[in-house]
Amino acid sequence: MELICPAGNYQSLIKAVDHGANAVYIGLKNETNARHFSGLNFSEKQISKAIDYAHQQGCKVYCAINTFPREQKWSRWTNAVDQAMGSGIDTLIVADIGVMDYIRSRSSDFPIHLSVQASSTNLESLNFYHQQFAIRRAVLPRVLSLAQVEKLAKNAPVEIEVFGFGSLCIMAEGRCYLSSYMTGESPNTQGVCSPAAYVEWEDKGAQLESRLNGLLIDRFRENENAGYPTLCKGRFEVHGQVEHALEEPTSLNTMDILPQLESAGVAAIKIEGRQRSPAYVTQVTRAWRQAIDSLSNKDADGKTRQIVTEDLADLAEGKQTTIGAYERSWQ
Ligand code: SF4
Repeated sequence: MELICPAGNYQSLIKAVDHGANAVYIGLKNETNARHFSGLNFSEKQISKAIDYAHQQGCKVYCAINTFPREQKWSRWTNAVDQAMGSGIDTLIVADIGVMDYIRSRSSDFPIHLSVQASSTNLESLNFYHQQFAIRRAVLPRVLSLAQVEKLAKNAPVEIEVFGFGSLCIMAEGRCYLSSYMTGESPNTQGVCSPAAYVEWEDKGAQLESRLNGLLIDRFRENENAGYPTLCKGRFEVHGQVEHALEEPTSLNTMDILPQLESAGVAAIKIEGRQRSPAYVTQVTRAWRQAIDSLSNKDADGKTRQIVTEDLADLAEGKQTTIGAYERSWQ
């Protein structure tokens, strides 16, 4: 299985390449990718430098142009495609069919991976993208069970990539309006669920409160891990009970089911986190390289995976991890 690591900037890319990524994914410095944060992403000059470095080490570079274009700014997306294809990028990660159509008007066989943002979860949908746009691979949304992933990996006409580690998103990926509703900034093109400018923390002595644009998201007791506040992972009163109504603030970690993902024929494991630091990318890439390699080294009892999971414990959101939908009895 390929290990696909996040590179929000040049330093992270170097770390991912040096610590064993088979491919890194990056974005341009505008709203054509779903991590449009200030200080992140690559200029034209940096892309060429990044591709040169990665290719010298045998690592591929994928470029995410995976947001849904706004009608009045359509040329921004076509310019991004032109720029990425002209720079020597290996693959484009795309969600919108208009953008895919544009890529095919330029090249009949340039590699396209279907972004997680497209939320493609069934065989018919994957067949459609394959027939219409000759996609090579699909990144599945983090809402499918292991059995569903296995079935798709066995029957789909394209390679399957799944998320292995990092933050979870519980909505139809790419189409969430929770933070748009509260802040007017969309996770699609502004790249962030809770824009920092709208986040407030207030220390109330025994409790720490987090708010997004004035709305109370959570109250943490002393010594309780306080994760970055997003609306989907807040605690709200439902039928008189205060609870994580939608999702707990935990990170996805599929280390325990890695052998099953490999046997299912999953082509690649993706690590979430282009917004993370180079130090984070170093640690996670190193750990996942070891874990994937341990499968071919016949690490039958999973000792290596157990050790690297312990190494990753501190990096998880709220210091908790979950296998998420892979093992959920409800879907
Ligand atoms: S707010 Fe939550 S559900 Fe919405 S995009 Fe962000 S992580 Fe996903």
